[in-house]
Amino acid sequence: MRYPSRGRMRKTLWRDYAFSPEEHERDLLAILEEVEALAEVGRSSVDRILRRHPKNGSSIFSRSELIAGYRYLSERYAWPSERDRVIETLRMKPVRSLSGVTPVTILTKPFPCPGKCIFCPSDVRMPKSYLSREPGAQRAGMHGFDPYDQTLARLEALYRIGHPVDKIELIVLGGTWSFYDESYQIWFLKRTFDALNDFARGARDGRRGRTLSRDPAAFELEGSGNEVDGHLGGNPYNRIVSELASQNDSGDETAPWSELARVQRDNERAGARAVGLSLETRPDYVTESEATRLRRLGATKIQIGYQSLSDDVLALNERGHDVAASRKATKLLRQAGFKIQAHWMANLYGSSPERDAEDYARLFDDPDFRPDELKLYPCSLIESAGIMAHYEAGRYRPYEEAELLELLLTCLTTTPVYCRLSRVIRDIPGDDIVAGSRVTNFRAVAEAEMKRRDLASRDIRAREIRGEAVSPDTLRLAVARYRSSIGVEAFIQAVTPDDRLAGFIRLSLPELPAYLEELEASALIREVHVYGAAVGIGERDETKAQHLGLGQRLLEHAACLARDAGFARMAVIASVGTREYYRRRGFTDGVLYQHRVL
Ligand code: SF4
Repeated sequence: MRYPSRGRMRKTLWRDYAFSPEEHERDLLAILEEVEALAEVGRSSVDRILRRHPKNGSSIFSRSELIAGYRYLSERYAWPSERDRVIETLRMKPVRSLSGVTPVTILTKPFPCPGKCIFCPSDVRMPKSYLSREPGAQRAGMHGFDPYDQTLARLEALYRIGHPVDKIELIVLGGTWSFYDESYQIWFLKRTFDALNDFARGARDGRRGRTLSRDPAAFELEGSGNEVDGHLGGNPYNRIVSELASQNDSGDETAPWSELARVQRDNERAGARAVGLSLETRPDYVTESEATRLRRLGATKIQIGYQSLSDDVLALNERGHDVAASRKATKLLRQAGFKIQAHWMANLYGSSPERDAEDYARLFDDPDFRPDELKLYPCSLIESAGIMAHYEAGRYRPYEEAELLELLLTCLTTTPVYCRLSRVIRDIPGDDIVAGSRVTNFRAVAEAEMKRRDLASRDIRAREIRGEAVSPDTLRLAVARYRSSIGVEAFIQAVTPDDRLAGFIRLSLPELPAYLEELEASALIREVHVYGAAVGIGERDETKAQHLGLGQRLLEHAACLARDAGFARMAVIASVGTREYYRRRGFTDGVLYQHRVL
């Protein structure tokens, strides 16, 4: 299969816009020239240029029209790829692709969840725990939760607003992944990869999956509304979505393993490659065989809900598993080389700000946990969640904003260097919150307060260089070692003179026998990450860390450390889209991992 060039991708895609750039060529050329010549880039300076060159003499060109226009003109006049920088100036929400890859988040269909957690919203239009007013969930609902449509629409939207779309981190959200039928899981991912493979070819697949919410009328639930009252006892959410699922089951949401393997092989050289795949599940669903199966599906990262590390809090919130289950799951996932993104909640029923601070400290003090990434969710009080009964009875209260702020400051300032604090609040629309903080930019509020008090975060997110230019000669490698439940973890960092992070590798040096035969006596690379705004595969921008050979330098250092620790082999948990990268660096394909003899 021939790898589609960026030019080819442009050719197939700009034609999809309803907007016709050829009709506005003169204005577009003038605008792009002026934007390129800007000495100082800012929204206001671009806006001034746009006002000088109105569309059809009156209205203003949108950013996506300008980007479409740039792509059209670039193809027409065969502009060199260096000029693509103008897209960065025009790009909206640049932060999305600044960590090196562009995330695409899609949701599974509404489906029963084995959990009965009292803090969890129940909206039968959505997979468990999501609310139909949340923006990502809304998008998924609009596409009937069809994985192909969701992925394709997201890729098109991201491309239109100027993001590179050749390195994609797929993030699958919704309920408990491991509880969905295996045939649905395989089909869901197969269709997601179909969309990635079709996207850069400009192909469209007319077949659409039929999921239960495709017919919105199915959700007009007589009398009850769509948000099920979770505190009435029983599990009405599961009952209703099961009924709807059986009514809507067309039998076509199924695919064999061989089909998934085929589309994943195709994706190795596709124009939009999956360089990461994240799935979410519960600790008590992680067993050796489940971890192996998740790997076979292509997962590289598992989102796992700890929620609390206190057994009494878990029990009071009817979580359905204890802390020991989270210990065991973390160990099994780490042994299989997954990147572990834990979810932890503050302000659960039975906790307090003081207890939360102690619980948070346990996440990193105890070697059995020490997650690689963390989503920190203070509990939001939602009408459809069971915790409402405790609130109404006066047994539960949401924290005051000042209490929450102090707690978040503790969390932000104590998270260690090897962990990325991906979230500090869930983006729940204010209208859905019954009581408590409605501030969705709490992270920004906390960061401003940290600045005022002269405090600093050291976690990955606070230190990553994002899209900044770096000089390769100034980078030095620093290793943070820490113990885990399976041995030693080496977090190898490429840091700038002012201690910013340009890239890193997570290397596990296990001391326990592996349960996956393929990983026996092997050091294990769980993640390679090099920052710099995501640059298209095949494009070079020498100022971006991703193209400074930094990945190679980090890999060689990891190999040295593994050798020094007595390992003769090193394995990597590669995603489908990075298999080629590792092959070029001396790794050979195994069954679920790639391997290099040291
Ligand atoms: S397991 Fe997750 S999705 Fe299921 S009820 Fe609990 S919190 Fe909600």
